[in-house]
Amino acid sequence: MPIRLICRFRLSSISRTTWPRLKLLKRLNSSSQELEPGASSPREIRMNCWICGDSATTGEHKTKQTDLRSELGKPAPGSPLYYHDHKSKNRLVRSFKADFLKSPSLLCAACNNQRTQPHDYAWERLSKALRSRSPAIRPGGAVRVNRIFRSHTAAQMINVQLFFTKLSGCHFLEAGMQFDQAMFSRCILTQAINPFLYLKFGVNPRAVTGMSDVEAMIDKSTGQCACAIWLYSVGRLSVLITYAMPGATWAGMEKAWHPRFGTNRLSIVSLA
Ligand SMILES: [Zn+2]
Repeated sequence: MPIRLICRFRLSSISRTTWPRLKLLKRLNSSSQELEPGASSPREIRMNCWICGDSATTGEHKTKQTDLRSELGKPAPGSPLYYHDHKSKNRLVRSFKADFLKSPSLLCAACNNQRTQPHDYAWERLSKALRSRSPAIRPGGAVRVNRIFRSHTAAQMINVQLFFTKLSGCHFLEAGMQFDQAMFSRCILTQAINPFLYLKFGVNPRAVTGMSDVEAMIDKSTGQCACAIWLYSVGRLSVLITYAMPGATWAGMEKAWHPRFGTNRLSIVSLA
């Protein structure tokens, strides 16, 4: 029985060992609430959908509902489910519709539902396939995604990348980070590959469900984010998401996947 807990957690060993290559840049951790001068305040982003600019009314789930349901089961009396973040511990989750499970970076209903539905479905399928695989995924192994998406494999994997583009956009805005928001919007609106977002798939033996803070390297001269990472976890499955502007590489991008690599093979690493 998995632990019935949804967490907001800190990145620990992953970022500590691999960030030094970017030591000339200023480090930002979203949990510290330290905003760059000129960075957008989280309050400013509540008015309009950051993807299309229309009036915003809905918040995206920080962890997708289908992931929560399939990994933890529904909240029910006699079978409590809790949420932890840096502000509060053991908050009782009565419903997956609770506001504290959603990002404060708002979207319009069209973007959150119809527009990004194919992206949500593609991730739902990949997430379930990776978690239910037999034998189970393990560090050092690999998965062929054309065995999961038997048709339109490349398009479905772009949908997966666009799912994480939506989540990352919400997460970065919540952190007040300056990133290429226009590119993120354009990719979602036009169904195009996000040139800056890399996904690395791995196993976390601690079986955590939730998301990490975002850690970012900010170019001091421009205030823009050069590189940022965060972790999305569903039980033992973890995805390390890297946002990297051209030229901003870091050691953790090794074995990461990007649609332009043109491969159906996902390397599985340890993301403990
Ligand atoms: Zn919208």
